[in-house]
Amino acid sequence: MTDKKENMLEKITSLAKRRGFVFPSSEIYGGMQAIYDYGHYGTLLKNNIRDAWWKHMVQCRDDVVGLDSAIFMHPTTWVASGHVGGFNDPQVDCRKCKSRFRADHILEEFGISADKAPLEELNAHLDKLREEGKLKCANCGSTDLTPAKIFSLMVKSNIGSPTDELKEENVVYLRPETCGGIYLEYKNTIDSLHIKLPFGIAQVGKAFRNEIVARQFIFRTREFEQMEMQYFLHPDIMKEKYDMWKDTRWKWYLEYGMKKEELRWYKHEKLAHYASEAYDVEYNFKTLGGFKEVEGIHARGDWDLSQHSKYSGVDLSYFDEKTGEKFTPHIMETSVGLNRLVLMFIDHSYVEEEVNGETRVVLKFDKRLAPVKVAILPLSKKEELTKPAREIYEKLRQLFMVEYDETQSIGKRYRRQDEIGTPYCVTVDFETLNDKAVTVRDRDTMKQERIAIDKLEEYLKGKLV
Ligand code: ATP
Repeated sequence: MTDKKENMLEKITSLAKRRGFVFPSSEIYGGMQAIYDYGHYGTLLKNNIRDAWWKHMVQCRDDVVGLDSAIFMHPTTWVASGHVGGFNDPQVDCRKCKSRFRADHILEEFGISADKAPLEELNAHLDKLREEGKLKCANCGSTDLTPAKIFSLMVKSNIGSPTDELKEENVVYLRPETCGGIYLEYKNTIDSLHIKLPFGIAQVGKAFRNEIVARQFIFRTREFEQMEMQYFLHPDIMKEKYDMWKDTRWKWYLEYGMKKEELRWYKHEKLAHYASEAYDVEYNFKTLGGFKEVEGIHARGDWDLSQHSKYSGVDLSYFDEKTGEKFTPHIMETSVGLNRLVLMFIDHSYVEEEVNGETRVVLKFDKRLAPVKVAILPLSKKEELTKPAREIYEKLRQLFMVEYDETQSIGKRYRRQDEIGTPYCVTVDFETLNDKAVTVRDRDTMKQERIAIDKLEEYLKGKLV
């Protein structure tokens, strides 16, 4: 099992680098742990996933509006939210090789569920494993591991002129989640758009956490993007709306090609004091060897607005003109990691097939998510073929992300397009000069169809839009 998982992680990490999806950040300087850069295809894939989320969460809804709030926020934001002092993970260090692990993740490996458990409970479990001789460093095998201690996830920065650098009041945090900005802009959103409850505010943006990470590729990183939606409502309709959003989000995954059996709901039993319900969507990662969280759906009560109202002194209550009731809205949130979805969709789409005794690697993305939709491949570099091929390319690129490639053998070019998940390859051959038609190859079936050039645009639109 572990070998299979390591093997898949290795394969996908190396494909991602080789084909320009994801690179380790600052590699020429030796890299930065748990920080990654997105290459051309990774950026396209990530943008397509983001757009698919936005379309579903904002564009096609009457009750959700958008926001793009700043990463730097007033330091009091994170005091009010409980992050300063309270946003921690339990850390265990190997005294020999200095590797760092999350205590709850070590316990998970032994089938002990200790997510958000108090330190004493974690250490009691670790002590027991230590006594039984089972507690070993996953990196070097040493048994010399420290007890669990608390480690803050907040990433500090500073703002102001260089001479102000050391002043405590200039310490700001890089936001650990994007929803903080949504709470702070709730009032401006209502005042500017005159929107009525219930409604949601959605945003996509970067978040930063000083994570303790061990070999999880882009699943858990220190800089990442979240796509969050906070839905403001009267508490009486929380259950109804919670179920509606749970259902809506589940269907989104299925719509973009995920299989029911690859996904499951995880119900949180230990809830934050203000929360009434919390479920996660989990995906069964081949690369990580099991089900892991991709999205959280949480009923958060009125905690967020009450806290920001209390700390800012600004009244954030809502007056319902119909009922005459004044109350602090409750919040239902959906929160998903964009980078985690990139890994999920690559993991899900990765297929190895035997074709004529050779292994074909294909990323069978949903066509809407595929980084490149069509590749134009002239069979020869002779101008009589490259000229019409370029003309087709120039026309189609106005509509879709299209690539033109005249290098190497056609087999190698197909292989490359399969590995980046391009749904259609269009070859321009010498026959094209006579019949004014091209061959369109389908990524998944590898079937080829002859299509007239003047019908090509319509044909591809029918398949891709
Ligand atoms: P975990 O238990 O995995 O640490 P969490 O419960 O702290 O996650 P939330 O704070 O609920 O996560 O964040 C919502 C979503 O943001 C997660 O479901 C995940 O998809 C994403 N996310 C959180 N932390 C990271 C990270 N370090 N790297 C990438 N994505 C992340």
